[in-house]
Amino acid sequence: MSVFGSRAPDDPIGELVALLARLPSVGERTATRLAFHVLGGDPEYARALGDALMGIHERVRRCVRCGNYGAEDICRICADPRRDERTLCVVARVPDLVAIEKSGTFRGRYHVLHKLLAPLDGVGPEDLPLDALVSRAAPVEVEEVIVATPLSVEGEATALYVAEVLGQAGVRVTRIASGVPHGGELEFTDQVTLGRALDGRKDI
Ligand SMILES: [Zn+2]
Repeated sequence: MSVFGSRAPDDPIGELVALLARLPSVGERTATRLAFHVLGGDPEYARALGDALMGIHERVRRCVRCGNYGAEDICRICADPRRDERTLCVVARVPDLVAIEKSGTFRGRYHVLHKLLAPLDGVGPEDLPLDALVSRAAPVEVEEVIVATPLSVEGEATALYVAEVLGQAGVRVTRIASGVPHGGELEFTDQVTLGRALDGRKDI
């Protein structure tokens, strides 16, 4: 029995299907279709896909400043001098940052937490990278920190905690307006709604 299940080692298609089926939103039927699609296509594509997957953890880094993903130590948003340093947007995950970027309504910089407060899952306040956020917000002239965590229980708890910590540091903290589906992830919210949620933000 392999680490991926009960597939025999001489069953490469079955092994590929089992691996693909572990991806989110991919059931066994889709996984089977994808596996046969790759098998029936150009071997060069399969090789390129394999290389891209194999190198993803080595080639992608977390930005030392904001936590965004990129190919360098400093991500392209932090490195862009045209971005407004006076406004920071706190997001839970990089896909949320990507969604906000696509909405085209935000020209500041980001801070990616990579997690939300979830006491039941063992994620407490000490696990959030807020020291880094406070030190970013303090020395440069940050006028506003927009908290764009999801409008879920964990997202709201995290937003309140961020507001508390930054409030003590004397930074203005705002929260995106509702309009993003309650409990919904930002990445699945359409660009217009996301833009409105940002524009309609309120102090917390
Ligand atoms: Zn960055």
